[in-house]
Amino acid sequence: MGGHVADNSGMAEYSDCLSCAVERRAERPPREQVYLDPHWRVAHAFGTAQPGWLVVLPRRHVLALDELAPAEAAGLGPVLRAVTAALPAGR
Ligand SMILES: [Zn+2]
Repeated sequence: MGGHVADNSGMAEYSDCLSCAVERRAERPPREQVYLDPHWRVAHAFGTAQPGWLVVLPRRHVLALDELAPAEAAGLGPVLRAVTAALPAGR
C-alpha cells in the first residue's frame, strides 16, 4: 500500500510508484536518464523483446494524460519526436 508523501517541492507523489522513486534519487544511472527536461525523463527499458526500448516518463506523479499541466502536455510531442528520431531502426 502506498500513500502520498511530500517531497521538497511540496508536490504529492505516491510512495510505491517506481517512476517517482527513481525521480527522487539524487543520482540516476545513465539508462534512467537518457533524456531529461523540466517535465519529462526518458529511460532505457530493460528486459524487453526489442533492444533500445525507451520509456517517456513524467517528472511528477500523474495517472493519465488528462492530468498533465498545459506546459507538460506541450512538451510531450517534441520529446516523442526527438526520441523517435534517435532510434530510427526498423524503418
Ligand atoms: Zn509516480
